[in-house]
Amino acid sequence: MDTIDPAAGPTPDPAPASPSAGTAAAVPPEAFPMLDASGMVILPRRCISCSYNLMGLHAEGLCPECGTPIALSLRDNLLINSAPEYLKRIHKGVFLVQAAIIVMIVLALVGFFGVMIAGLVGAGRGPVSIPGSIPFPSNGTSPGTTPTGTASGTAMGGGFMIAIVYGSAFVSIAIACVGLYGWWLFSEADPRASENDKGEKPRRIVRTTVVIELALLVVSQAVNLATGAGLGGVGTMFGAAMIVSMLCSLSYYIALATRYFASMLYIRWLAPRLPNEKVHRRGKLMLWLGPVLCTVGVAACGLGPLVALVLYYNLLEWVRVDLKRIRKTLELKSMQDAGSAAPA
Ligand SMILES: [Zn+2]
Repeated sequence: MDTIDPAAGPTPDPAPASPSAGTAAAVPPEAFPMLDASGMVILPRRCISCSYNLMGLHAEGLCPECGTPIALSLRDNLLINSAPEYLKRIHKGVFLVQAAIIVMIVLALVGFFGVMIAGLVGAGRGPVSIPGSIPFPSNGTSPGTTPTGTASGTAMGGGFMIAIVYGSAFVSIAIACVGLYGWWLFSEADPRASENDKGEKPRRIVRTTVVIELALLVVSQAVNLATGAGLGGVGTMFGAAMIVSMLCSLSYYIALATRYFASMLYIRWLAPRLPNEKVHRRGKLMLWLGPVLCTVGVAACGLGPLVALVLYYNLLEWVRVDLKRIRKTLELKSMQDAGSAAPA
């Protein structure tokens, strides 16, 4: 009875909050199979707010740990029945991931056109060249992205260029951190989820890889600074530091790929709980299409990764819009409840 909707299979119709203006803590009809004749919870069920196992308690009581009405935790597994604090965090997480993607794209465009314009202007002026910004996706450590030409030019122009290079390296590292923080929030555990849920394993992998990526980012930047290569590895680097830097980059991309697959599985698990069939299908599609577009698709004038990014962003957008709608519905309902509870 306690089964969480598996990621596969059709999703049930959305079950909007009970229209009856009764108490918020009314025991939902679907809870009856998990109650005995006296109204005791007879199956394992976790509190939506604090994860406390409610088995053996009375359905009309309160969670002994946090005081949340037990009836609220007996409703089905849709996200609309999850704790508002949890929904707020994962909603914020998706938003930050999307924001990081948008800012990264804008910066990449600015960098690209900046280089073109500087190239045109600089063509008639000699050796000053504006280094490229670090391309997406970037941790600023990839040796192949090391911009060049910072030392050339006049002393004043050189200083300006170095400021731009360091500035863009710093900004792209900061954006990468925002994206990672977004994923950290988005992959937060729903207190009501049990260890056996299908989404738990991918969710934990997402969280683990986020930590690994952040650690690699810190280590690689520390190596860059220690060897004098500077932020984002914009200077020159030799020997052991070069090897460490390359290993960091390699590990980073492995972690990134792992997180990608895990995040698609996690989103697929989340989809029936939104519920959103489209999200489920896109998550499944992106499991194989994303990697294909980012590898084979590069051959198509480099458009593959761009298409993958759009499809990926759309998927996140659908999830964000649904989470926003769910939170709005809950807010409205709690306002109505407060209104009906308060004396006129
Ligand atoms: Zn509780």
